[in-house]
Amino acid sequence: MTFSEVQQEALAFRDARDWLQFHNPKDLALSISLEAAELLECFQWSGDNLSPEGSRARVCEELADVMMYCIYLADVEGIDIPSALHDKIRRNAEHYPVEKSVGSPKKYTEL
Ligand SMILES: [Mg+2]
Repeated sequence: MTFSEVQQEALAFRDARDWLQFHNPKDLALSISLEAAELLECFQWSGDNLSPEGSRARVCEELADVMMYCIYLADVEGIDIPSALHDKIRRNAEHYPVEKSVGSPKKYTEL
């Protein structure tokens, strides 16, 4: 399944339930943040274990929730997600040229 197909599936799911009426940009952005917090819960109290055993299914589900709301927000804002990602990757490449950033976790302002 392509991203475009799954994007259309998500929008059809929303539309079949007449939920677009509730999808304003503020509440969708808020929902992205709430679902991101649920994603963080997968790792809460895991100590030094950065990938807790048995958490993968929940991580997958919460990551999907985040992406679902991203699809909904992009739709109501008229944002083409592949283009937005492409543009951001290009800007990041300007901020983080390979010769300066390879193997470095530093922010571009510190390179
Ligand atoms: Mg969730």
